Order: sequence, then C-alpha cells, then structure tokens
Amino acid sequence: MTQAELTAFVEEMNEPPYRGRQIFGALQQRRLRSFDEMTDLPKEFRAKLNEHATASTLTVESRYISEDGTRRYLMKTHDGLPVETVFIPEERRDTICFSSQSGCPLQCSFCLTAKLGLLRTLTAGEIVEQIIIALNDAYGEGQRTPRGTNLVAMGAGEPMLAFDSLMKALKIMSDPKGLHIVSNRVTVSTAGIVPRIRELATIEDRPHLAISLAAPTDELRNELMPINKKWPLEELLAACKEFERSLKPNERFTFEYVMLDAVNDADEQARQLANLLNRHALRAKVNLIPHNPADPLPYRPSKPERVESFKRILESKGVHAFVRRPRGRDIYAACGQLAARRTAANPIAAMLHQLA
Ligand code: SF4
Repeated sequence: MTQAELTAFVEEMNEPPYRGRQIFGALQQRRLRSFDEMTDLPKEFRAKLNEHATASTLTVESRYISEDGTRRYLMKTHDGLPVETVFIPEERRDTICFSSQSGCPLQCSFCLTAKLGLLRTLTAGEIVEQIIIALNDAYGEGQRTPRGTNLVAMGAGEPMLAFDSLMKALKIMSDPKGLHIVSNRVTVSTAGIVPRIRELATIEDRPHLAISLAAPTDELRNELMPINKKWPLEELLAACKEFERSLKPNERFTFEYVMLDAVNDADEQARQLANLLNRHALRAKVNLIPHNPADPLPYRPSKPERVESFKRILESKGVHAFVRRPRGRDIYAACGQLAARRTAANPIAAMLHQLA
C-alpha cells in the first residue's frame, strides 16, 4: 500500500491517520516484516492488524552467494510460486535485479525463465518486498544502506506486462518516508511491448528504459524473440523514436544485445545492427551481454574476440557500445540463467524438472 492507502486503511479501523504513516515508515524505512516487531504501536492495535492484514508475504526458500559477492534469492509467494531476485554489490552502488512476474509468457529462446510460461504477474507488494528482503539480507533489518541502490526490472517476467504493479511499486519505493529509491534509479527492460513503451514515455516521473534486441533482422528476431512477430523491429524502433522525445538532456536509452555464438555475433550482423540504429537516429547505447550458459538451452556464449570485433564495428559506425561483465555466473544468477540451477531447494528447477 502507498502511504495514502495505509492511512485510509487505518482510518477504516477507527485509528488516527498518523498510525498509517507510522506503519508505512516501519515497513518501508525500517524494513520490518511483521506487525509484532512494530513495538511502538499499541499491543491491541498490533493484534487487530494481524487479524486484518499481513505485513509480508514472500518467504526466502534459498540463497546463494557468489564468489564475486552477488547474492541470488529464490523466494516463494503465499500461493507457492517461485520468484527470483539478484543483489549485485558494486563499488559505488548496489544493484538489485527484481522479477515482475513468476515465470514469463514470452518465449525468448535464449532464456530459461521462458520454459516456465507465465505462472502469475506479481503484485506491487511482491515487487517491493523483493527489494526489502535483499537489503535486509545484505545490511541487516532496518540498517542503513551505505551505498545508493539502483533497481533493474530484468529478473523473471516482462515488466511491461506487469505495468500496473510495477508503476505502483515504483511509487511506493520512491516515497522519501520509505525506501526512497526514485524512478531515476530504476531501469525497466522490455522485450518490446510497443504500446507500453509509448505509455511509459508519457509518465512524468518515469524510470529509464532498456530494450532487449538480440537480433538485427526480423527474420532472426522472430526466431529468438517471438514477440517480434507481433511488434517487428521497424515498429519497435519507431516507438523508441517517440520515446526519445521524453529523454532528459544527458539521458540515453539502452539496447541489450545478448551475444550467442554463431547465431547473432557475426561482423555482418554488427553492421546490420549499426545501420538499423543509425537509420532511426536513436540516442541510444548498446550493451553487449555475452550469453550465460544455462543447461537445457542450445546456445553457447560468443567468444571474447567475437564480442570485441562486434563492439569495434558498432563504434566505427558511431554507435556507443559497452560489454557487460557477467556477475554471479557461478550461482546461476547471471542474465538468462534464472531458473537454471537444479537443486531440490529450487522451486523453479523442480518445476522445470516436471516440465521435462
Ligand atoms: S528474456 Fe525476459 S521477456 Fe524473454 S522470456 Fe526471458 S524473462 Fe521473458
């Protein structure tokens, strides 16, 4: 609930409005996960809250910590569905990669989450709670976070298909009396849901946008990302061009390009990609992401010299390109790997096992 909703909620329980603000601070700033811990509330009121509401719904099933410090959490919703979240510490800031759906309805062929199909879109509460759980685990419940926190909606799910939950979660998290993570610190990654790209551009306090491209031609993109059959590249890039009008002076938007060995990493494909972006004259940068191996998927990562050559060609044609360093590969926390690890404690792996 937003602060205003919580205030209305307590008023319905015949409590003064300030109690709503107090609970909001306890949940969102002190990051408490039960009413019983809110000892500054009268005991009878806490009992009443326990009867009518719940302060947290996700449970952590398992946690893996990578040798590079990345933490991956497998959580479960109240109705038993898997949710994955990754915490990535960096020198000057932390990044939390959160999920917007359990499973995903899109069928990107290089992504393991796709194998689950859509189980359910997450609620705003379930999105916010992932961040609270990750911060509490890294720094202790309610402890100050020493670095800034960036959020990326790049975990399981297509965030643009969880639009209402996502927007509400961002509103709750940006509240200065709560987590205070403003939209400017958030990047939403989409496989290319064109109407939502247009809608996002109209939102004043909007997050940054990243688009997963994965291919420079419709023919290949149809194969790798079937959503392209609905919104092909020309239509997608036309929407990006419209979105560009909403960019701030120093803002660029990002194209993600997962690099698959001998599939989309040839020099000719780099030229095609540069020409495509240049034709639309987009103020964008391209992040090249070497594919992360995930067991049942038929792809290998591009070789480092291929990635370098691809990058050089993009740059020679005036396209800003960066190579993303994979994080948490050893714990299957890297891009496209969520749901990869098969252990009894991993609910997604268990489901994949059943599907197989
Ligand atoms: S890459 Fe993203 S949009 Fe595509 S199937 Fe995986 S989670 Fe869904």
